[in-house]
Amino acid sequence: MSDLSATNIPALASSAYNQALEVIAAVEPRIAEATKQELVDQRASLKLIASENYASPAVLLTMGSWLSDKYAEGTVGHRFYAGCQNVDTVESLAAEHARELFGAEYAYVQPHSGIDANLVAFWSILAHRVEGPWLEKFGARGVNDLSEADWESLRAELGNQRLLGMSLDAGGHLTHGFRPNISGKMFHQQQYGTDPETGLLDYDAVRAKAKEFKPLVIVAGYSAYPRRVNFAKMREIADEVGATLMVDMAHFAGLVAGKVFTGEEDPVPHAHIVTTTTHKSLRGPRGGMVLATEEYAPSVDRGCPMVLGGPLSHVMAAKAVALAEARQPAFATYAQNVADNAKSLADGFLSRGAKLVTGGTDNHIVLLDVSSFGLTGRQAESALLDSGVVTNRNSVPADPNGAWYTSGVRLGTPALTTRGFGHDEFDRVAELIVDVLTNTSPGTTSAGAPSKASYAIGDGVAEKTKAAAAELLDKHPLYPGLELA
Ligand SMILES: *Cc1c(COP(=O)(O)O)cnc(C)c1O
Repeated sequence: MSDLSATNIPALASSAYNQALEVIAAVEPRIAEATKQELVDQRASLKLIASENYASPAVLLTMGSWLSDKYAEGTVGHRFYAGCQNVDTVESLAAEHARELFGAEYAYVQPHSGIDANLVAFWSILAHRVEGPWLEKFGARGVNDLSEADWESLRAELGNQRLLGMSLDAGGHLTHGFRPNISGKMFHQQQYGTDPETGLLDYDAVRAKAKEFKPLVIVAGYSAYPRRVNFAKMREIADEVGATLMVDMAHFAGLVAGKVFTGEEDPVPHAHIVTTTTHKSLRGPRGGMVLATEEYAPSVDRGCPMVLGGPLSHVMAAKAVALAEARQPAFATYAQNVADNAKSLADGFLSRGAKLVTGGTDNHIVLLDVSSFGLTGRQAESALLDSGVVTNRNSVPADPNGAWYTSGVRLGTPALTTRGFGHDEFDRVAELIVDVLTNTSPGTTSAGAPSKASYAIGDGVAEKTKAAAAELLDKHPLYPGLELA
């Protein structure tokens, strides 16, 4: 299962899909059409969005069922609704696979997304701090026993909640204390960045910042940092200042699952609490998950209804299937290929003179600095999209073009590795991208001023690139055997 060509969809499943689409079309044909068209589009483009993947047919099929119809607020064996025996089976299995796969003491598989998983973790960290001395002070057995007045005085005491997270332009995520997300309202946030010379995480600088700021929580993890993180060092720093270490492995969970990141690079043995998505490099259904030490389990368990709505049972079932897939040896091969391919892609750029943030990669992300092509990230992203290459623009450290136009393009290897792309294909992808960007020039505004958005691609370049991309994609079909009517 290291690539999807190994999971050929049999004719029977193909006909089941077509019949399902007919059932949908009878109610709202435009939805059936958009669903079909999405497959056509995904098949026809080089998907390099680092946070996307292609889930297996088993994972996709698991989501389309009546498990969706069941309400199951609460936890396994402790539900607020009757008749949850099958959801209990589903949730227990998903949690068991997650614990076994990641070697975690405890797993909570209900979060609907990565953001939701982070909210559960934040709640849990705050609740955990309230437990112990605070509960004693108020003579309460659990946080649920605290009265409104108790909470009022707690809020006053805990008002100074501090969170130290990675800065956005160094690759951190909005949910790590930034203002557009509630984490930026719940916490006083300060940021650690990367070394301006090397672009690498500077642990001494993180330590100095932590000692000065004395955060309640240190968040490690990223969405756009092309390097590994030493979580043992991050834990050491957290311990020195008495902070909780939360690792958000949303992006690289697949590399942890596939044992590409081990020892000090594996967050699970080092963090108090780990959050993740299940749909990025982990290649499961769209969703989130929290892994924690036993100590944090009771408060994590209160995620629903504290910050989550009722669990999506059909998605928990698909998480169980995806996690079962990730426990197979083929997934470790896949994860290693994801990392090897990122190196091939990076080398492909470097050998053609392009500039990369940190000068390379050792995970699944390559961050291309497009300023050397005289373009903004926005212009590069658009020119590539016109050429059949789907990426997303991204800030680079100390970005002169800000977070909207940016100076970078983020690329990731998880999706195309699932399709079976290897070294040669990723080298060719780098060649195609360099060719498009070399032949793209910045445009001007209607008033004739330099524009950060408009651009012009050389004659025939987009068409030529699309044809070259199609050649690569045809060799590695997506969901082979699936023929839509
Ligand atoms: C993608 C991502 C998230 C958010 O995941 P959603 O499922 O979109 O809510 C959170 N944290 C990090 C680090 C991410 O990369």
